[in-house]
Amino acid sequence: MADWNGFNQGIKNLGDGVYAWLQPNGSWGLNNTALICSDGEALLVDATVDVPSTQRMLADMRTVEAAAGNITQVVLTHWHVDHVHGLCAQELGSARVFATQICAEYLKKLPPARWLEAISALEGDARLQIERLIQPQFDFTGLHPIRITDTFEGALPLRVGQVGVDVLEAAPCHTRSDSVVFIPHAGIVHMGDLVRAKHHIGVQYPFMTNLLTICRKALDFQARIYIPGHGPLLDIADLREIVEYLEFIQFKVRERFERGMTVDEATDDLLSSLERFQDYAGAENLWFTVKMLFCEFAGDKEDYVRRDYPAYLAKQWRLHHQVRQCHPRLFAFKGVA
Ligand SMILES: [Zn+2]
Repeated sequence: MADWNGFNQGIKNLGDGVYAWLQPNGSWGLNNTALICSDGEALLVDATVDVPSTQRMLADMRTVEAAAGNITQVVLTHWHVDHVHGLCAQELGSARVFATQICAEYLKKLPPARWLEAISALEGDARLQIERLIQPQFDFTGLHPIRITDTFEGALPLRVGQVGVDVLEAAPCHTRSDSVVFIPHAGIVHMGDLVRAKHHIGVQYPFMTNLLTICRKALDFQARIYIPGHGPLLDIADLREIVEYLEFIQFKVRERFERGMTVDEATDDLLSSLERFQDYAGAENLWFTVKMLFCEFAGDKEDYVRRDYPAYLAKQWRLHHQVRQCHPRLFAFKGVA
């Protein structure tokens, strides 16, 4: 079961030289990273949303592992800023940074300065939404273009001291290209933002099938711990439930697609029939998942939800209010963002 009791701020020793650094409540900008240590070497999976929080994370990591004082390898699970900006911390300045080719291209096209510019130019509902997401403690000073030293496609085997780490690309998935980090000796997987405990998944590309394929692969791996990009640590039963959830959503949306419903009608109908998944948080994300599944069923592989980022944010803002108003039952369980 998802480790809600252990979902506390800071470092968590997972055994076998592997640590997770957790950030409740797991909302936008509060992600989970991982540290893998062996024989005096250290590899970091993901940075955080800004330099100060990455520096706090590294200080915490140094208290449990001296090797964290000299991280020589960093793997990025995807390009979203909350996993990336902290790479600008000078402590990581000499590390090799691994990302997929596509992830590296995104980061090149959207360096932090350009992202900040785009954010500050937002208006109307898009501005309201980004203000809702960005918390006051985030500090976007001290950023410079993200330095990726090594890119890969498909699979990347890495070594940390005596142990091996296997990075697998899933593309497209949550973003156009995501990485999942398998740590075989410890039986641990960092799943990036592909999965999350008791939370509806907002698919951003018309490739739910890719998401299911990589999740099934992670299930076959039979890990003892799955680290999600946000939220509490998961076990194999949680991942199995997530796969069942994805299959359920895929099946329900397909039925509605075949009945000739519009995306709006299908979403509304789905929200009224979530069955055992109705206590999941984030029901407002489902409109995007339905839209992407409709594209996938229609064979349109080109559309994606962030094609027009301001419009995407504005839609999120409106859904945040509309879905609560029309389906209050889905928000009665807990005050999760
Ligand atoms: Zn994230």
